[in-house]
This record gives sequence, C-alpha cells and structure tokens, in this order.
Amino acid sequence: MKKINFYSGPAILPEEVLLQAQAAIQDFAGTGLSILEISHRSKEFVHVMEEARALVKELMQLDADKEVLFLQGGASSQFYMIPMNLLNENETATYFDTGNWAHNAIVEAKNFGQVHIACSSKAQSYNHIPKHYDFVDSKYVHLTTNNTIYGTQFSNLQLNDFKKEWSLVADMSSDIFSRDIDYNKYDLIYAGAQKNMGPAGATLVVVNKNILGKVNRALPKMIDYRVHIEKDSMYNTPSVFAVYVSWLTLKWIKGKSLKDIAASNQRKADKLYAAIDKSGVFEGTVAKGDRSQMNVCFGVKPVLDKTMIEEQFLQFVAAQNIVGIKGYRTVGGFRASIYNAMPESGVDALVEAMAEFERTL
Ligand SMILES: *Cc1c(COP(=O)(O)O)cnc(C)c1O
Repeated sequence: MKKINFYSGPAILPEEVLLQAQAAIQDFAGTGLSILEISHRSKEFVHVMEEARALVKELMQLDADKEVLFLQGGASSQFYMIPMNLLNENETATYFDTGNWAHNAIVEAKNFGQVHIACSSKAQSYNHIPKHYDFVDSKYVHLTTNNTIYGTQFSNLQLNDFKKEWSLVADMSSDIFSRDIDYNKYDLIYAGAQKNMGPAGATLVVVNKNILGKVNRALPKMIDYRVHIEKDSMYNTPSVFAVYVSWLTLKWIKGKSLKDIAASNQRKADKLYAAIDKSGVFEGTVAKGDRSQMNVCFGVKPVLDKTMIEEQFLQFVAAQNIVGIKGYRTVGGFRASIYNAMPESGVDALVEAMAEFERTL
C-alpha cells in the first residue's frame, strides 16, 4: 500500500518520476544497460548532465554569468566550500542565524574567515525570522531561505527587500523550485537534492563565475568551483543516478511550470495552516508571518496532555497510511513536509485525519 509521505528528506518524489527511474534501472535510454551500470562518460549520460544543467538555467531564468553544477557531499559540504572559495581569513561574511542548518553553516565559515551575525532567533528556539538585521561591510551575506527543522521561511516580500548589490548566498535546500522568485539576485545558491528536487546524493550549486578566484588560499581541486565549472560538472564521477532522477524531476517541474507549482504550494500550505488554526487540539509553533510553505510545524495545545495525545495522533494517522509527520528529534511535535511532489489530495487526507482525530477525543 502506497503511503502518503510527509517525511522531510529524503522526501516524496512525483509518481511519474519514480516510474521513469524504475524503467531506467532496467534499461537506460535504450542502451541495454542500467542507469546504475553505465559510464558517466557515455554520450547518453553526458546528455542527461547537460540537459539537467540547462534546465536549471531555464527554470531559474539565469543570466549568462551563472554556472550550474551537480556536486556531491550534500548541502553540509557547501557550508565549508563556500567560505573556502569566497572568503579570505581577514575578510568578513554576514550570516543570518535562523535555524540549525544556518547555525551549522556559521560554525564552518568561522574556520576560514570572520563571521558577522546579522540577526539570530536562537534564543526563541528559532520560532521566527528576525525583521531587523545588523549589517557590516561583507564579502557575502548568507541566508537559509527555508528552515526545514523549525518550519520558518523568508517570505517573497522579505527576499525582494534584499539589495542586489550585496553578494547573496542562499541555502535553498528545502524550498528550491518551490516558488517563482528572482534567482538572479543570488551569487550562489545551493541545495541538497533530497528535499525538493530528487534523491539524496546530488547537490545543486548555482554560482556567479565572476565571484570566484579571489581568495589567496590553496584549494583542493574537489573544493574549487572553478575546476567543476571547467570540467562541466564531471571532474570526477558524478552521482549518476541522483543526477538522473533530479533531471526527471526538473522536467516534471517544467511540465507543470514553476508558477503553477508555486500556486499549488501556496494553496496546500494555506489549507493545512487553516486546519491547524481552527483546531481545538493543535496549534502552530512559529510566528504566523514566517510560516514555511514547505515544512508545516505544529504541536498539541498546552492545555491538553501533550505527550499522550501526540502519541495517539501518530498512531491514528499511521492507520490512514500517513507517515513522516513526527517533528525533528530535538524539536518534538509534528512536522508535515509538503514539498512540490505532495499532491493536494495528500494535504486533504492529513486535514481530514486531524479533524477526525479531534472528534475521537
Ligand atoms: C537538509 C538540509 C541541509 C543538510 O543537507 P545535507 O544534504 O544532508 O548535507 C542543509 N540545509 C538545509 C536548509 C536543509 O534542509
């Protein structure tokens, strides 16, 4: 029985994509070979890599200065790769401390240069995105557009406010391709594929080539973005299968259009938050204006026996084939991740389960 998958990552993928990937495991592009056993230098896979990179450019409407790479090591490797490529030891980068992942990025950057914190919501358990920032002259400004664990997200409005003259670097791991924003504003965008774009193992990096080559430290080849650009993202063996499935997902996104996906994400999130807000049992856990469209975090109202009801609700939804809504291990409560591939019917099923559960109490 197919489950309704609300896991935060690795996460739900479109059904069509899974079927195409399944077929390619048997016979990839009519080669008589599995995608898992083919050379990354074969013309069939080189085509996939080229198309995937081109499709990112097209979907994000990127200008000619932007280069698209599919690397490995996850978003976490970008936490150190970025300062190593962009920041000299005596230079400063500004970071927004809006969640666990943002914090991890800060910790790594401190190994390679000076870090200035523009704002932090850590003392409030990252339950909001600060509205006042303290800026200093910086080599780049780093933000996490969606905080996967806490369920907060920079709104389109806030992102629009950021000035183009700052060199913006964004971790978009959990909301990449979820909305129609000005992607050209960023000098560097990165995302682990496994939240909203594909399976684990591929990491998307979009970088403005003009910002590279300005640090004085020696860079190992695998760390140097310029090497990967020069070699068309094939300096070493890429994660063939993960890139392939990411490409299938990108084609699925194009088929629907980013605008339609964004509208659908808005509808899904509005529906789920509306159900939480009118519930007598549940409540949202973050500031309303900062609610994420991707990771909807909620808990049991404090007047109730939280622990018992949480446990009961998890069992209740499991019986309806709903999985993956347990909150992050250090946060507790619930988190429903409703990425691009989650159909509206999946959200409807969760909303229905919440209402029915409430009737049983
Ligand atoms: C999941 C996540 C990461 C970590 O990704 P890995 O690919 O596991 O390294 C980093 N940033 C954000 C926003 C995430 O959601």
